[in-house]
Amino acid sequence: MRARAVGAINLGQGFPDVDGPDALKEAAVRAIEEGRGNQYPAPHGIPELRQAIAAHQKRYYGIDLDWETEVVVTTGASEALQSALLALVDVDDEVLIFEPWFDIYEVGVEMARGRVVGVPSTQSLRPDFEALRSRITSKSKVIVINTPHNPTGIVWSLDELQELATIAIENNLIVISDEAYEHLWFEEYRHRAIASLPGMFERTVTVGSAGKSFSFTGWKVGWASGPRNLIAAVRVVRQHLSYVSSGPFQYAIAEGLHFPDQYWNEFKNSMQNKRDLFTLGLTELGFGIIPSQGTYFLTTDVRPLGFKSGAEFVEASITKAGVVAIPHSRLCQDPEVGEPFVRWAYCKQDEILQQAIKNLQVFAR
Ligand code: PMP
Repeated sequence: MRARAVGAINLGQGFPDVDGPDALKEAAVRAIEEGRGNQYPAPHGIPELRQAIAAHQKRYYGIDLDWETEVVVTTGASEALQSALLALVDVDDEVLIFEPWFDIYEVGVEMARGRVVGVPSTQSLRPDFEALRSRITSKSKVIVINTPHNPTGIVWSLDELQELATIAIENNLIVISDEAYEHLWFEEYRHRAIASLPGMFERTVTVGSAGKSFSFTGWKVGWASGPRNLIAAVRVVRQHLSYVSSGPFQYAIAEGLHFPDQYWNEFKNSMQNKRDLFTLGLTELGFGIIPSQGTYFLTTDVRPLGFKSGAEFVEASITKAGVVAIPHSRLCQDPEVGEPFVRWAYCKQDEILQQAIKNLQVFAR
């Protein structure tokens, strides 16, 4: 990776530099020692974890799931997303995705030999429903949404979710809803599951990530939930990708999903403090700020610092400040959509963030 090669501070990749709860590490070790999950676990996920996922969806979103038929455990949210795309997209089907996006969606659609239809966001990087409507054709099959959103850090409002729901229902579209950052939203920007809106459960595959929710991105435990017919299709593909997903970690995550609200609140508060520290630092340096309402990403506009493009800025940031970030142009079908923006991952220790801000002073205006 570029950051390692040049010895730079890596605010490019979205992984926390502090591990998740010790209780879950102990639960995973216990499972290994007790021989739970050391051999192929149940194909669609161990019952304990599928039950915990169903209970979690009920607790936070009021969604009733049959854990036996409406949940599948996957090798991270990534496998859930790719399995859903491979299962639900046929040759030449059109898949609508708001730009900028998490880049694996585009590859998933291409692997399914569907067609990616990029939908630009508004100037303030919110979903542009006019643009979405204008791109729907008789070949449109799926909309992929992601909230809290990587890379912008925005969280869709209830109105936005409702508008998307109306469009999906009117046009009989399936929604793949990537909710990997469901527990990372701040202040009043509450995350809601689109599947909880009227008429949406039956057309939505909802994706979650233990890597994001518990800060164990290396464990690669994720899941998809939704109506039986869609999940059955996802299961068939997933089963032929990895057959089963990591055993002992599933036992640990099953425990984690039953944690009291206090865990999520503390997790969120600690990330919010990092967001505040980093946002203040970059504001003082003169960056244009897109306020981060959720995830652990902050998006900035580099034009106020005299740069034309995010890509140009990131190159300078690596060589002059020793700090790596990601230009949005890498996360769009049309690079112009993301041209002035840069994404920073602030899920790092405070000292690292402070050092990055100090290094970035070379660009201060
Ligand atoms: N969705 C989004 C929006 C992400 O940012 C990521 C990880 N970067 C994933 C899904 C993948 O999650 P996992 O590590 O559980 O596969």
